[in-house]
Amino acid sequence: MHSINYNLTGTVFDIQRFSLHDGPGIRTIVFLKGCPLSCKWCSNPESQHIKPVIMYKQADCLHCGLCITACKIGAISPRNKGFINRDICTGCGECVNACPSGALVIKGRTMTIQQVVKELKKDATTYRRSGGGITLSGGEPLVQHAFAAELLKACKAQGWNTAIETTGIGTEESIETVIPYVDTVLLDIKHMDGEQHKKFTGADNESAKKNAPRICQISNTVIRIPVVPGFNFSAEAIKDIAEYAKTLMGIRIIHLLPYHSFGENKYGLLGQDYELKDIKPLRSEDLAESKKIVESLGFQCIIGG
Ligand code: SF4
Ligand code: SF4
Repeated sequence: MHSINYNLTGTVFDIQRFSLHDGPGIRTIVFLKGCPLSCKWCSNPESQHIKPVIMYKQADCLHCGLCITACKIGAISPRNKGFINRDICTGCGECVNACPSGALVIKGRTMTIQQVVKELKKDATTYRRSGGGITLSGGEPLVQHAFAAELLKACKAQGWNTAIETTGIGTEESIETVIPYVDTVLLDIKHMDGEQHKKFTGADNESAKKNAPRICQISNTVIRIPVVPGFNFSAEAIKDIAEYAKTLMGIRIIHLLPYHSFGENKYGLLGQDYELKDIKPLRSEDLAESKKIVESLGFQCIIGG
């Protein structure tokens, strides 16, 4: 095992314990900030920007103006859409410190590898007993690839099982530094058509297609398809992805993730519009046909996961 730089810092926006859906056993999920995509259905829009972001809960605001005084660059005004001018906000957090009511919350903090590992150790016994471990998520963990790799190395040094949720979009360097330390890759494939991919996620799928074969070569990989009406909820789109998965090494399992709108309220807190507000969430039974298509191509198919 290579030496580990426990002082390396990264930007983390959440650490969630006792997860059952993001790899084997009971897991702790470390959410890293930064993503090359901005999927219209993203349930963690606060993860997309690499810098910390401020969420504003208008219902809790006392309209005292203390945050306006605290902000040295004038990013806060009742005249701004969503209260904060996010084009100039640096994420310094001074307004959050000044707010007496908790109406402002900062998402994203700088942590060292040592600090994250200390947090993860709280559940070490649970990982061992349940066959679980830690999962890196985001955002896209490959964005902070040096931090992600170092954190995974530190987890392996503890003997913990590791997993990563990724779009596979990243540089060659990010793949080669991170994936060798991952036991299970949960690889999101959203659409095989580049134009449709771009329309709904903000970027095409060229990088994902380039990296997927290499990821599958290095690590045990499970494909996950977020199934979204109006985007890829069609026999053709699901079949295209499953046929592509046939070309990748060692894929046996495909998860279909029914569209949900759990993150919708966060968009308002970030001063953004949720574009899919008219789309109804899918139930597991809505994906019965999609499941049959995936199974007909020889995969085990799990709805949810
Ligand atoms: S985080 Fe800093 S820059 Fe952004 S609104 Fe608050 S005080 Fe201003
Ligand atoms: S400091 Fe908090 S309570 Fe006061 S105006 Fe700002 S957000 Fe509202």
